[in-house]
Amino acid sequence: MQSANIEHIVIVGGGTAGWMTAAALANRLPQKLCRITLVESDVIGTVGVGESTIPHIRQFNQTLGIDEATFIKKTHATVKLGIKFNDWGNIGDSYFHPFGEHGEITQGIDFHQYWLKARSLGETYGLEQYSIAAMAGFAGKFPLSTSNKPTVFADYTYSYHIDASAYAAFLSDYAQQRGVQRIEGKVVKVNQHLNDFVQSITLESGQTIEGDLFIDCSGFKALLIDGTLNTPYLDWSQWLPTDSAVAAPCEHAPGDHSSSKGKIALQPYTQATARVSGWQWQIPLQHRIGNGHVFTSAFLSDQHATDILMNSLPGKALANPKILRFKAGRRQYSWQKNVVAIGLSSGFLEPLESTSIYLIQLGVSKLLELFPDKAFRQAEMNEYNRSICQQYELIRNFIILHFHVTKRNDSPFWDYCRNMAIPDELQHLLTLFAESGRTDLAQFGVWPAVCIGQNIIPQHYDARLDNIDAEQIKQLMANHRHKIQSMLATFPQADDYIQELLTRGTR
Ligand code: FAD
Repeated sequence: MQSANIEHIVIVGGGTAGWMTAAALANRLPQKLCRITLVESDVIGTVGVGESTIPHIRQFNQTLGIDEATFIKKTHATVKLGIKFNDWGNIGDSYFHPFGEHGEITQGIDFHQYWLKARSLGETYGLEQYSIAAMAGFAGKFPLSTSNKPTVFADYTYSYHIDASAYAAFLSDYAQQRGVQRIEGKVVKVNQHLNDFVQSITLESGQTIEGDLFIDCSGFKALLIDGTLNTPYLDWSQWLPTDSAVAAPCEHAPGDHSSSKGKIALQPYTQATARVSGWQWQIPLQHRIGNGHVFTSAFLSDQHATDILMNSLPGKALANPKILRFKAGRRQYSWQKNVVAIGLSSGFLEPLESTSIYLIQLGVSKLLELFPDKAFRQAEMNEYNRSICQQYELIRNFIILHFHVTKRNDSPFWDYCRNMAIPDELQHLLTLFAESGRTDLAQFGVWPAVCIGQNIIPQHYDARLDNIDAEQIKQLMANHRHKIQSMLATFPQADDYIQELLTRGTR
């Protein structure tokens, strides 16, 4: 039997999660049917980091009808083709985890298998020499031009570095223009029905706001999902032991001003440099560089972590260093009763592969797919929780991989990471890859870059390749390299791409 529709959604929190959720819901839900209110506290503020993204954000923006030029202008964004990892497999090593695939699947066989076979034939070219994104990234170029978009670079293969606060502000305008009501105030009490469903929230001002569906975007505070419903948090810090970060933005280095049009020449990639007890990010935006040092407090003091960061900034610091604390893990259920937790209230995986904003996007799109009525069916909640859990675990294992697969032995932190027991599923995938280079379909593309980048070279290549003549394999590999080199010559500098969009202005 059809039940009554949700008439009022209340979102608690106005960080990236709150405003992404508000914007997506306002875009997709008919206003006549359902009102949306967002409550945020200016005094509490937001976590204020989260600047590197993965390509899915483009799909999110497209669904909302956000024009790329406007987005880039409003969020001070630059383009991102992947992540350059320094000192991970060993001090002095470096590799690029590009978006998109290396080479092309030929005759149904993954490209990295061809690379392995070519290697066995004596070829010495690195895997990244077969990636358009990596090669363009190293050259500071970008594989699209605003006027003439080559089709060789598949959709979904680039992303952005953004000012996360500016993105939240932009989405706030977007959502409010589409009817979302914003209320500034601090939630001091959460009121429940007899069946424990949330009935309303009370603000410091005394105002009470009733709702049918509540979205908890209150960040690490997790006011509703934890504070009210006591949903347990599954602690994953035995596998992801970092629990702190120190962040500080800085100016661009003077040497960066060297692009063909005299503007700032920016690296179109994030840098992740392993440090003695953690790692450091570097994220170039148009007007500054975002920097942060993720570390483990059990192995490193705040002061030492801060010194490492501040002594390695590429330009003059623009703010005092800020310390953040976190615990890796996820909420056992992201959806309980009439509360859905999205963003940091639903879990935290450290930012090594820039996946948190993607998890917000996933949370909102799954909620829309399974959007409830007032009956709140348990099977729909279970399905939501199942799919969120699946993605969290997939990403968790992938991040653990980076820390575990290392030869570094220069500190207690790396000794711990190298020797720690890892989840069974990850151990299985690691053995599979180490033996024969095979990967799970869900991990396709990302595993070869990271494993090979961190010196896990599979022992065997795909046996089907022995049906192909050795010279033919060498020729195929040479063709790939030449194709990339000739395409590179036609690509614009990454910052020229940005400048071209900026001069277009807002539509
Ligand atoms: P918050 O930003 O904390 O927002 C919480 C909101 O709730 C605020 O508006 C606050 O005012 C409100 N609130 C809280 N309590 C109350 C109350 N009582 N009353 C009213 N309002 C209240 N993600 C990426 O994708 N890429 C990255 O590169 C990346 N880097 C990160 C680096 C670090 C060190 C950390 C910690 C996170 C990083 N993240 C990254 C994650 C990213 O920052 C978050 O996923 C994102 O900012 C979403 O946060 P949020 O909106 O859930 O929480």
